[in-house]
Amino acid sequence: MTGPAGGEGGAGTVIGLEVHVQLRTATKLFCRCRAAYGGEPGTRVCPVCLGLPGALPVPNQEAVRLAVRAAAALACEVDPRSRFDRKNYFYPDLPKGYQITQYHRPLATDGELEVRLEEGERRRVGIRRLHLEEDAGRLVHDRYPDRTAVDLNRAGVPLVEIVTRPELRSPAAARAFLDRLTQVLEHYAAVSDCNMEEGSLRVDANLSVVGPSGDRAARTEVKNMNSFRHVERALAHERDRQRSVLADGGRVERETRRWDAEAGRTRPMRGKAGEVDYRYFPEPDLPPLSLEPARVEAIREGLPELPHRLERRLAEEHGLSPYDAARMAARPDRAAYFEAAVGDRDEAFAKQVANFVTGKLAEALNRRPEGVAEADLLGPGRLARVAELRRDGTLSSTTADRALEALIEGEADDPDRVVEERGLAQVRDRDRLRAWVEEAVDSHPEEAARYAAGEEKLMGFFMGRVMRRAGGKADPEKARELLRERLSEVEP
Ligand code: ZN
Ligand code: MN
Repeated sequence: MTGPAGGEGGAGTVIGLEVHVQLRTATKLFCRCRAAYGGEPGTRVCPVCLGLPGALPVPNQEAVRLAVRAAAALACEVDPRSRFDRKNYFYPDLPKGYQITQYHRPLATDGELEVRLEEGERRRVGIRRLHLEEDAGRLVHDRYPDRTAVDLNRAGVPLVEIVTRPELRSPAAARAFLDRLTQVLEHYAAVSDCNMEEGSLRVDANLSVVGPSGDRAARTEVKNMNSFRHVERALAHERDRQRSVLADGGRVERETRRWDAEAGRTRPMRGKAGEVDYRYFPEPDLPPLSLEPARVEAIREGLPELPHRLERRLAEEHGLSPYDAARMAARPDRAAYFEAAVGDRDEAFAKQVANFVTGKLAEALNRRPEGVAEADLLGPGRLARVAELRRDGTLSSTTADRALEALIEGEADDPDRVVEERGLAQVRDRDRLRAWVEEAVDSHPEEAARYAAGEEKLMGFFMGRVMRRAGGKADPEKARELLRERLSEVEP
């Protein structure tokens, strides 16, 4: 048996991923045409990206910097002298008849990414290589009836191709890897917007299983998945397909298959015979890509604390659960916001702040355009003040949410004043509480009798009545105590 040993419920399933990520540059990799998505077809082109005779490529230094940043975020070793190669093939969206990529000496190798699996388990996934290459154009099938058009706006846009080691053991682990990869590349390294719909992130996957005899099947490559959910579904289907071929005594062919989302299955695309010989050779128009080690180090040091470390630190320093730590570390600016609000206060306070961030603030962000952050809605100092008022019992969870809403929606500036002006403070005055308790018990004699007869779960019912009368502002502990007292006087 080859490949990683051990199962984790994957029963010998081995998956490797190849991910293409578009770098967030203003211009293309070897010319100064605009690289942004869209534009009237065929307008963002020049002799270089059209491959006209005599045009010469000039590497985009910003693309190089972003590629090194991506490599550093994935803990790769960066080659100080990587090279460009030509990958030759014929296709209508490839005007030069070859793609400039890095084959023999990629920009970076031997990295890793720590992934969180569903069961809270962490696993390191090896990155075999990361290289820089240009994108091809795009075939457009829906512009003219019965004809296919070519849009070369995308030709020459900078990509990094990231290839993992075959160390993922399940479709869910593959999805967890992709979640982590996009989190790192989009929010931490900030090198790409990782938008699958616009094609700035594309995933191909290799998968093989072990059959009943213990032999590993040939691996198949699966393409054409346009969301992480589909990657997971396609891989699950492909795994089950390979298993049933082997169980029936058949042989899995080494081939490329295409995910058909509508049918929910993979279909053969091309077999080994249909494989192209790319005749790679060094790109004669470009010198080696020289990178001073000091420059690489500076880029590495310029990265923020990466999410797997940050999650661990938030859990250790603030006592957050793995779930809360992951939520706070979803983006580095959110983690910074959380820490600014918590300061050096204790774990219970940190938990309260985390609850506000994942509760009312997350809710408010959902209603706003992408790119708006917590700090844009409410400064960390004012959030901390609401957490304090919640903690000292002035606010209940309900009224704390109301105070937050008012502050977030800009109806008020000052937490203390909101509480006062809107009368949000919890009522702890025994006389006022007793009046609500008595009303609640007296207007439900039947339930009171049942409670007295031992139906203790009716306490929830009475608490609900008291809270309704109190507009949610009764101190729950005191109210419960008074309710118990009053109900104990009722005859069963
Ligand atoms: Zn161009
Ligand atoms: Mn590629």
